[in-house]
Amino acid sequence: MSTRMPEDFYSDGDDKPFLNCKVCERELNGSGVPYTIEKAYKRTQEGEDVTLFEVAICIPCAEKQAQKMSKESRRYLASVMGNQDFFEKRQGLWENWEENWKSKCIFSDSEVKQNDEYHIVGHFQDGELLPQQAPFLIGQEMIEEIQENLSPETKEEMDRFGDQFLGPDPTIKALMEDSQFVLV
Ligand SMILES: [Zn+2]
Repeated sequence: MSTRMPEDFYSDGDDKPFLNCKVCERELNGSGVPYTIEKAYKRTQEGEDVTLFEVAICIPCAEKQAQKMSKESRRYLASVMGNQDFFEKRQGLWENWEENWKSKCIFSDSEVKQNDEYHIVGHFQDGELLPQQAPFLIGQEMIEEIQENLSPETKEEMDRFGDQFLGPDPTIKALMEDSQFVLV
């Protein structure tokens, strides 16, 4: 199975792989530290995919950030991302991930439609996918469900993180007006 990073996970800035953790700025390639990349898109009326935000974050920083969430939110996210069902779906995707990983939401099996927001998530080490961990797509329905289940404190914390690390791009702000920043 290929562990090559799909170009979807390259930085929009220069169309190259991310080099550093957004938070601690540690180098991602050659450090051996696992990291996650999440990119959020909006599919426009015209069918074009516009990037809302992109972030590469090393696992130690992601864990620190997770500690800032409320207990309820952590429990909720663990129930979504840490359950057997999700594990099996992701394992099943590994077999043919290159053809299938973006075709539908890993949770709802819905395809991305016009005006939908969707996120892609991948876990990497030294520029390669972690074995058995297929990248996946989270569709609009599931993003909304996650947002509805996060506590107000966690939402505030995520907004703070977003403001600090994702930059106040006015275009993106406008696009994200209705959507809550979610990092998984
Ligand atoms: Zn870091």
